[in-house]
Amino acid sequence: MSVLLSIDSVCKSFGPFQALDNIQLDIEQGEFIVLLGPSGCGKTTLLRSIAGFMQPDSGTIAIDGQDVSRLPPYRRPLNTVFQNYALFPHLTVLENVAYGPRRQGVGRAEARQKAREALAMVGLEALEDRFPRGMSGGQQQRVALARAIVNQPKLLLLDEPLSALDMKLRKRMQLELKHLQAKLGIAFIFVTHDQEEAMTIADRIVVMNAGRIEQVGASSQIYSAPASRFVADFIGEANLISYQASDNGEVRLAIQHKPLRHPARDLLPRGVAVLRPEHVQVLDASTPESASCHELHGTVTDIVSVGSHTLVHALIDGQPIVARTMGLPPSGLTTGGAVRLGYNPAHVHLIGEPV
Ligand code: ATP
Repeated sequence: MSVLLSIDSVCKSFGPFQALDNIQLDIEQGEFIVLLGPSGCGKTTLLRSIAGFMQPDSGTIAIDGQDVSRLPPYRRPLNTVFQNYALFPHLTVLENVAYGPRRQGVGRAEARQKAREALAMVGLEALEDRFPRGMSGGQQQRVALARAIVNQPKLLLLDEPLSALDMKLRKRMQLELKHLQAKLGIAFIFVTHDQEEAMTIADRIVVMNAGRIEQVGASSQIYSAPASRFVADFIGEANLISYQASDNGEVRLAIQHKPLRHPARDLLPRGVAVLRPEHVQVLDASTPESASCHELHGTVTDIVSVGSHTLVHALIDGQPIVARTMGLPPSGLTTGGAVRLGYNPAHVHLIGEPV
């Protein structure tokens, strides 16, 4: 794989507010990248800077080794799909898609041929004579995609393209997009604030917070080894528990007197331990404590069952802990009653925090 897009030291401020703070990111050819983060973290600003709709204050953006920082959007080898589709209402589906090639000087017959090929990629070849207003949200989204890929860009930028769709259609379109991207082999950069969407579609996720990149990695890596408290909290559900480590490699969690052993030499003396709810079990009386099952005693505060799984909320030494169990609530549990929870210390991920 070789680098397609290289973002180097990009900064952008609006007055005194720094929206992008020294962004450093390389994207490979054919990668599906998701920019993920809470509202206002700078995702759209970064996407618009890559597209050329916005000029960074400093830093460079290169595509295929060519510095495009000063080029206008239409001179960059990329295309953008916007949230609102931005289709021309007075043009048919085919004309909408053929518009780009026509503007670039391609002849009418060839432009229509290219548009038909792009429509076939998104499964809309049968609807080429329709007008956008006669189409569902999902179909309009596919037209917008066909229009964006018809010129075979090297890079496609997608700014929350599925946010206007209902949840079921949105989930279907996520998988369709993933298949389309694999078929096209071009790199996608997709912006969302929905972590489940990011984990469904991304090869790598770029987690952003307050104008900075917190972590870049495959979803499994970001979920199992978050680099910061912010990432642990933002991606999935997490029990975050303070820890203290001593020089001899012993780690004590705030909820547990029995120490854990930790092999990492560079572990900071204080920080936060991440324990995912699915790694906390509700123990019954017959489960013995062992090296692979540390035990916690507490009180149940809530039991929330959604059919496929149940969340058991408990208080352990004043610290809230959530356990997720498969299926309906374990028998014998009551709100306000005692509970025995267990976890395997191997599932505890420690994040040191400088003091
Ligand atoms: P959302 O998910 O809500 O779209 P985002 O992560 O895409 O958020 P941006 O749109 O990149 O966030 O905005 C980052 C920050 O920069 C926000 O605080 C926003 O208010 C600010 N900002 C963006 N554009 C401008 C502008 N043109 N003028 C002033 N401030 C701006």
